[in-house]
Amino acid sequence: MKYENTLLFIDGEWCSGSEKQTIPIFNPATDEEIGHVAKATVADLDRAAASAEKAFHVWRRTPAVERGVTLRKAAGLLRDRLESIAHVLTLEQGKPLLEARAEIASCADAFEWAAEEGRRLYGRVIPSRAAGVAQYVVRAPVGPVAAFTPWNFPASQVAKKLAPALAAGCSVIVKASEEVPRSAAAIITSLVDAGIPTGVVQLAYGTPDEISRHLIAHPAIRKISFTGSVPVGKHLAALSGEQMKRTTMELGGHGPAIVFKDADISSAAALLVSGKYRNAGQTCAAPTRFMVHNDVYHEFVAAFVEKTQSLVVGNGLDATTQMGPLANERRGKLFDQFVDDARQRGAKLMCGGESLFTRGTFRQPTVLANVDPSMRVMNDEPFCPIALISGFDNPNEAVAEANRLPFGLAGYAFTESSANAQFLAENLEVGMLSINHLGLALPETPFGGVKESGYGSEGGLESTEGYLNTRFITNKAY
Ligand code: NAD
Repeated sequence: MKYENTLLFIDGEWCSGSEKQTIPIFNPATDEEIGHVAKATVADLDRAAASAEKAFHVWRRTPAVERGVTLRKAAGLLRDRLESIAHVLTLEQGKPLLEARAEIASCADAFEWAAEEGRRLYGRVIPSRAAGVAQYVVRAPVGPVAAFTPWNFPASQVAKKLAPALAAGCSVIVKASEEVPRSAAAIITSLVDAGIPTGVVQLAYGTPDEISRHLIAHPAIRKISFTGSVPVGKHLAALSGEQMKRTTMELGGHGPAIVFKDADISSAAALLVSGKYRNAGQTCAAPTRFMVHNDVYHEFVAAFVEKTQSLVVGNGLDATTQMGPLANERRGKLFDQFVDDARQRGAKLMCGGESLFTRGTFRQPTVLANVDPSMRVMNDEPFCPIALISGFDNPNEAVAEANRLPFGLAGYAFTESSANAQFLAENLEVGMLSINHLGLALPETPFGGVKESGYGSEGGLESTEGYLNTRFITNKAY
């Protein structure tokens, strides 16, 4: 299947940047250059911002029911095109086709959920203190949005930002990943083909810092949404703060997974292996620090290592592949550094640790046991296929280790005791806690972090809140 070059989508047209510059795209499974993406200039961004402002006034006045019809139509188109978009996603990002298909299906789910929710953005009436006075609260779209999305889920991160923003009545300029651009463009195409009015959705690529600085400062833009690393999130939040613009920040994590001695160890290990190595570990909500009760430590490590070693690593296009390459060589280099540093500081390499094949950014699924907080990988978000296992005797120790880091995105626990589950629900500093299964990231459930993992939500009722202003109106009749 041919991989097409990606253009910008500005003011209703697919176009090159005004200076005709492009960025090359590589297949991480083969290192081959497979295409190019257009690079936007400041002049292109100004055109996009003017178009977004104009389109906002059209879209906010479009009845929510009609906005929903467009979103639902786009979801249908994504389902019709699922196989070809998934193929493109695997080519440019590396993940196995099965995961790519699930990602595109989740984009359709997000649009369908938002299509319905847009009809339920209720206000309220407040009883007044005086006769003849009406008091009511309305929720109005915040305005044109600048959305910045990363390369790990390059399609679904775009859909997760577009769906609630569009349902709320906002126009959106997406700056998607320059490294993985084509599947993001396919999400925009589905909305265009569904008939979304000109300027309501636009797409830019270029130099991330130049685009974010320009759009955040631009008077037309009223809201910033970012998914990516904590340092970049802090930088964009600071820029937005200078402009008093609202932000949603979905940042990194370092997920604790706590396994109690009363858990079903074999099924906990199997589920956690699938969660850990999904997308080659490049998932912000991945389980990462595995804390296992010392009574079942060896049993868990053995089961976890066995399942890890059985994973088939290869080109995501091969039907048997269960884990693809890392999406870029930056992650590969960090993988090597994390493993070396941890081993030098006393971690026990249980399996993996090496690169694989002569071409592509492949690394083995890796398990490090006997880890401790002195190791770099126990502090920085690994964002690669490394599982870190340590033991605990007392649940307070596990909670202290889980809460030690400034991250607070997803947490996991396996236990048959409701008392243990309740203890964790009350004490783990995470935005999402999944107990005895991997149950996160549905369109109808909130997705977001606490502490340095950010604020705001990318799912559930809370996702549209981020794109709405609350306004109070009071009217005294003559
Ligand atoms: P990075 O911090 O340079 O970039 C992260 C993402 O932010 C990329 O998509 C990049 O294009 C974008 N970005 C960077 N600078 C930007 C700017 N000034 N304005 C707008 N966007 C900008 O790191 P990276 O090597 O690309 O990714 C690795 C790190 O990013 C990981 O450690 C992980 O913590 C984090 N990350 C998190 C998520 C997530 O889902 N929360 C997704 C991708 C990456």
